[in-house]
Amino acid sequence: MSRKPKIAVWKFASCDGCQLSLLDCEDELLTLAGEVEIAYFLEASRATVRGPYDLSLVEGSVTTPHDAERIKQVRRASRRLVTIGACATAGGVQALKNFADVEDFVSIVYASPDYISTLEASTPISAHVPVDFELHGCPISKRQLLEVITAFLHGRRPGIPSTSVCMECKRRGNVCVMVAHGTPCLGPVTHAGCGAICPAYNRGCYGCFGPMETPNTVSLTKQLKVLGMGDRAVDRVFRTFNVTAFEEARRG
Ligand code: SF4
Ligand code: SF4
Repeated sequence: MSRKPKIAVWKFASCDGCQLSLLDCEDELLTLAGEVEIAYFLEASRATVRGPYDLSLVEGSVTTPHDAERIKQVRRASRRLVTIGACATAGGVQALKNFADVEDFVSIVYASPDYISTLEASTPISAHVPVDFELHGCPISKRQLLEVITAFLHGRRPGIPSTSVCMECKRRGNVCVMVAHGTPCLGPVTHAGCGAICPAYNRGCYGCFGPMETPNTVSLTKQLKVLGMGDRAVDRVFRTFNVTAFEEARRG
């Protein structure tokens, strides 16, 4: 009997939301557990199996010297490595510290800053080791996660479209909140995957899936200003969960 592929799930600096998306698969997770060996997933079980692993899912960004070394060990132990979520793919909301002096935060937030060991910047996993695929979202979509796992088990590329949230609005039949109501929306530059949830409830997208491939941030910025946003408001709307990725996209 051939052995089942081993899957590992790793946590770095993050809120655990993307790991919860995997646990949230419920029925599908039971089917998956029949097909693979979930060998390392501390969020689900303290029982662990030693590597190497066929597929590692990595949540979270690198923010400490210890984690900068640990991700290299994870990479060495993994045949394929997929990063999941805004923290792992773009540094996460904690990357807001990259635009300030980290020592200022440390001294304000912690009663004993001497115990804190942190890097100047929060960086995505791809800044440290080669990554086989990046799955975007804050949190990720469980439907897309299952597609990624299935694709890697069958040795094919995941079928994840790199189009914008606007395309999902059109498929869902949403009325465009920006055109119809003048509501600022990052949908035109944001990676598809959520099914256009926010516009479906009459609010603008705030970019939690990060930038799509080739985002036209220049044109969207002009439109946001037409809708009355000033420079500071535009900066703020791009600086959330995927701040480093959107700032890179804005620089072109
Ligand atoms: S509501 Fe937003 S995401 Fe939907 S079509 Fe309009 S601009 Fe695009
Ligand atoms: S519409 Fe935008 S902000 Fe809302 S869930 Fe989708 S990607 Fe995230």
